[in-house]
Amino acid sequence: MLFFSTRNPKNLVTFEEGVFQGLAPDGGLYHPLKTPDLSALMESFSSDTPFTEIASALTSALLEDELKPAQAESICRRAFPFEPVLAEVDKDISVLELFHGPSCAFKDFGASFLAACMEEFLKGSARKAVILTATSGDTGSAVARAFHKRDNIEVVILYPSGRVSPLQEKQLTTLGGNVSALEVEGSFDDCQRMVKQAFVDPELRDRIPLASANSINLGRLLPQSFYYVWAWTRARADNPYFAVPSGNFGNLTAGVLAWTWGLKVPGFLAVTNRNDVVPQYLLSGDFAPRPSLQTPSNAMDVGDPSNFERLLEIFDGSREKMSRMIAQQIITDEETIAAIREVKNRTGYLMDPHTAVGYLGSRRYLDTAGDGRKIITLSTAHPGKFQEVVEEALGSAPELPERLREVLNLPKQAEKIDNSLDALKAFLLSRHG
Ligand SMILES: *Cc1c(COP(=O)(O)O)cnc(C)c1O
Repeated sequence: MLFFSTRNPKNLVTFEEGVFQGLAPDGGLYHPLKTPDLSALMESFSSDTPFTEIASALTSALLEDELKPAQAESICRRAFPFEPVLAEVDKDISVLELFHGPSCAFKDFGASFLAACMEEFLKGSARKAVILTATSGDTGSAVARAFHKRDNIEVVILYPSGRVSPLQEKQLTTLGGNVSALEVEGSFDDCQRMVKQAFVDPELRDRIPLASANSINLGRLLPQSFYYVWAWTRARADNPYFAVPSGNFGNLTAGVLAWTWGLKVPGFLAVTNRNDVVPQYLLSGDFAPRPSLQTPSNAMDVGDPSNFERLLEIFDGSREKMSRMIAQQIITDEETIAAIREVKNRTGYLMDPHTAVGYLGSRRYLDTAGDGRKIITLSTAHPGKFQEVVEEALGSAPELPERLREVLNLPKQAEKIDNSLDALKAFLLSRHG
């Protein structure tokens, strides 16, 4: 399978090239050139086929000209020592829990698969990769955990000093080994600018094999389709819709890709918080990016969702086609908090604020379009990660998951640098030059 850039269809790459490039040089996102029919393969899975088996078979089918079946299997075994969990909350709404990985968020699936792919591609070559990434807190920890202890890969993470939560800082700075944390005296925007400058700096490009691991990377997009297939094998008798609490729309795009490859789903529901650029497009046909607003589901506070370019590719740029497959719901801040409380009190099930957005969007959709439909809503984070919001909803803070609690007692290891490209260059050249 080859992939083309959404900004220039003549720019074609293999999966391996796409993985190491991240963003296309023309600023576009890489997207599958062909649409394979994997429906027979999907039908062949049973309701107890393990997640790694489904992931291996899909990886192998999608990337058959680049990976041997045994390589695909080895990648998926290394990437996924964790599985999704499907939990029923209401008679017509189930929750697909994607937070059982190392950083307790769904981004573990993408980051971990990307890391295992890079490791596989580097194996047996003399090449190395240095992953350079900036984080405002959460994404960085999924990346750091995913790449920790991978062979031939070093990770350098920049984060803004004093502007990430104490727990997030611990998650970023306590791994050691091949993961270095740089505590930048500046803002998240400074960190991002430094990373961007580093990628175009001629001396660094010449001397260090820099690679990025950001969320638009093909190696993070493709594996996000696997859990839709896994959930469908468990619930196919219900003919479920999928609701996706969305920000940058990578998660939803991966589900829609699975549908183009033959997954038999009747439709998707895109649910956002007040950052509703895509729902507004579905309603009016007008795509109008704007600065993001701060909400309780802050990992979805995105004002210019980059995967919209991929969605347009899938639906030939047609809003009509897109809205035949994707419905929308918009949830306010107050409604998010109220939904956490209402569901907890009524059913005992505790949701994080992102999951609550997806759940309430599903509830509303069914209450208007009901007629026996069922929805699986994706749960993107463990409620324990959002202490303040859950406390606001319930009056008491949720328990921190064990694997996050552990890091609180580990010593912080970070190097402080000022917010200049020179400081970053000096670090990179001394360590990896
Ligand atoms: C990143 C993230 C989202 C949004 O996912 P997209 O693929 O960007 O739409 C939702 N919830 C949580 C907890 C996240 O970290």
